[in-house]
Amino acid sequence: MSTKDFIEKDYYKVLGVPKDATEAEIKKAYRKLAREFHPDANKGNAKAEERFKEISEANDVLGDPKKRKEYDDARALFGSGGFRPGPGAGGGSFNFDLGDLFGGQGAGGQQAGGFGGGLGDVFGGLFNRGGAGTTRTQPRRGQDIESEVTLSFTEAIEGATVPLRMSSQAPCKACSGTGDKNGTPRVCPTCVGTGQVARGSGGGFSLTDPCPDCKGRGLIAEEPCEICKGSGRAKSSRTMQVRIPAGVSDGQRIRLRGKGAPGERGGPAGDLYVVVHVGAHPVFGRKGDNLTVTVPVTYPEAALGGEVRVPTLGGPPVTLKLPPGTPNGRTMRARGKGAVRKDGTRGDLLVTVEVSVPKDVSGKARDALEAYREATADDDPRAELFQAAKGA
Ligand SMILES: [Zn+2]
Ligand SMILES: [Zn+2]
Repeated sequence: MSTKDFIEKDYYKVLGVPKDATEAEIKKAYRKLAREFHPDANKGNAKAEERFKEISEANDVLGDPKKRKEYDDARALFGSGGFRPGPGAGGGSFNFDLGDLFGGQGAGGQQAGGFGGGLGDVFGGLFNRGGAGTTRTQPRRGQDIESEVTLSFTEAIEGATVPLRMSSQAPCKACSGTGDKNGTPRVCPTCVGTGQVARGSGGGFSLTDPCPDCKGRGLIAEEPCEICKGSGRAKSSRTMQVRIPAGVSDGQRIRLRGKGAPGERGGPAGDLYVVVHVGAHPVFGRKGDNLTVTVPVTYPEAALGGEVRVPTLGGPPVTLKLPPGTPNGRTMRARGKGAVRKDGTRGDLLVTVEVSVPKDVSGKARDALEAYREATADDDPRAELFQAAKGA
């Protein structure tokens, strides 16, 4: 029995029942017809024998809910949608409802990319049942996609939702993913549309390879689509909102599961890898989980000690206690005021003090400084330096 025979046979008509007949109605119709056309009751009547075979075959399928569903699905796919012999004649050229076949991308259900899966199920179930050579078209995982995004310094610390424009391989729009210029591909005769060919079997497992003639697609273009060159896949770009977690750093590559290209035939989507570029901040720097900031202090603050207000990123300022005699360039730590870590805690803010020197000093301040110079005239800050220079 060929594919075409199977699709063309109307088992409902054979049994004389409506398409929505209940199991009981089918059983009743079958019994009545079987009795009528049974070979025992029609000895030597070839037509009756032929009819009896048809009735049995119809009952085999419609009498088994699982097989009946497969049959209905197959007919929905080919039958009512206008199955007809194609220009090539000899059968095997189908006219599909492309919306049904390829429109289901990303729906995640049975119908997503339903063609291969549907056929594999139907024919695997009905014609290879029990055999070792059952072939099925496997769902295929979508491609991983790599993209880039530039975040501001603050966005990188706090996390951000950013629009990301991505291009990926998707079903070609021009030919609805069929690869055929007119959208009317033929079912591949080599694999009968399953996209797979048996390699052999062992231990109850059947091994399959992608069909070499249709590259695993189950379809062959009569006339290749000019846009996708018959592959059925084309570059498509889309924009999606992507959540970048808090605490990413410049050059980091983050993986967003399932945000890549959609899968084929109900397969899962690929992953999206985003390479993050982070802009500079006018005040803060970054060392891993820690943020850095340089804070100017006056000479009296450094010498005598004091409290210094320090800005933080996205929060209120913190006050740091400067011990007396803090040297220029000393770094102190404001705990928990740094970048967000993976576990949600924060690194520290590393505060480096820089003693600022006034450009010009006048008035009271000048008097005070002059007095200070007088008072420290005997302290030579370079005495040690000269001593050491002599030593070596
Ligand atoms: Zn093939
Ligand atoms: Zn195309």
